[in-house]
Amino acid sequence: MVYDVVVIGAGAAGLMCAAQAGYAGRRVLVLDHANKAGKKILMSGGGRCNFTNLGTTPQHFYSENPYFCISALKRYRPEHFVELVDRHGVEYVEKAPGQLFCATSAKEILRVLQTECEWAGVEIRLQTQITRVERHGEGIRLATSLGRVDAGVVVVASGGLSIPTMGATGFGYELARQFGLEVLPTRPGLVPFTLSDAWKARCAELSGVSLPVAVSSGERRFVEPMLFTHRGLSGPSVLQISSVWQPGSTIEIDLLPSENAADSLRYARETTPKRQVSTWLGERFPKRFAQALLEWYPDTHVSKPLAQYSNDELDQWACRLNQWQLKPAGTEGWRTAEVTMGGVSTEMISSKTFEVKDVPQLRFIGEVLDVTGELGGYNFQWAWASGVACGQAC
Ligand code: FAD
Repeated sequence: MVYDVVVIGAGAAGLMCAAQAGYAGRRVLVLDHANKAGKKILMSGGGRCNFTNLGTTPQHFYSENPYFCISALKRYRPEHFVELVDRHGVEYVEKAPGQLFCATSAKEILRVLQTECEWAGVEIRLQTQITRVERHGEGIRLATSLGRVDAGVVVVASGGLSIPTMGATGFGYELARQFGLEVLPTRPGLVPFTLSDAWKARCAELSGVSLPVAVSSGERRFVEPMLFTHRGLSGPSVLQISSVWQPGSTIEIDLLPSENAADSLRYARETTPKRQVSTWLGERFPKRFAQALLEWYPDTHVSKPLAQYSNDELDQWACRLNQWQLKPAGTEGWRTAEVTMGGVSTEMISSKTFEVKDVPQLRFIGEVLDVTGELGGYNFQWAWASGVACGQAC
């Protein structure tokens, strides 16, 4: 079998790239080992796919080379993808500022991509194993479970390592190494934290409670909700900070991000001295959490009328509320991570065409590259933008 372009990976970036190359008149084949295309799209955004973010800028991405993503993101912007879904009649909602989700189901996004591929004459073959990829004359030859496939260009869109049960493999990294590219160390990103036994038990009792907080690690701070779970901590702010967290380090949680607790407590002591601290907490937190705060620190945090608290005691409370220090035991790992930090180094990749500088027949796009977005639709925007840039250049 001979094709102009063979795309490895029928995910977000691969399908987008294939359709573009198909529209450009190329004979395109997409290969995937999974039994279904776009599995991650289907499970994304809680089944509703946060397919873009209208506020996408290069600053929303992590990469050793922060400039690499600029060109593709500039050329294919969120409005372009919105125009595409509009054309296909997909209804969507802006759940948080800039974050667009399908109104009904993530299946709609997969339908758009599959329809585009169909219209562009792209052939998609699933449940196909690729056992060898090597240069052959001017092109590349693949040994696959379908037999030998010759391609003018091979695009690697095999994604990252998160959620192995959905078909994630290290295929793209191995191929990159085979062709002499550097692969930067990978680790799970946008992933819940696990906690040591004592904190795990405490948080488990609060499972389901969500609080609007600010979570910080080093220079980064995210003001978004945090969720207590049976295993530890999750929710947008925690997922965001997990991408920059260094194992063994402490995170800081501001439980009252829009209030200076020290000032508020002193003011309350002055104006309402008979009020119990438990009442003060109850006005700010869900009941279960306010109660838990009193139970977690029984020596210093008994509830009594505010007038009976010394300045030091109030400061201790304030510190716990505005600067709660917590050391996660780890993360839930690849099993639940939404993305992979690190990956194929962009150093030898063209930011315009995504071709490997010494091997122009080989290209890498999407999450397999060392470009990872924050939470909020940025990762799909990167998949679309890199897919379009590469597909048009094929
Ligand atoms: P993928 O979509 O992962 O596609 C890779 C494809 O390659 C897969 O089909 C896989 O089967 C195939 N493949 C892998 N190895 C091989 C091999 N050896 N041979 C053949 N085929 C292979 N991002 C957002 O922007 N918004 C969200 O709402 C969002 N929600 C998410 C929720 C979850 C639970 C997860 C896990 C991720 C979420 N993401 C979200 C991230 C987003 O899904 C990814 O960044 C995006 O799918 C990456 O696209 P990709 O095409 O590079 O890789």
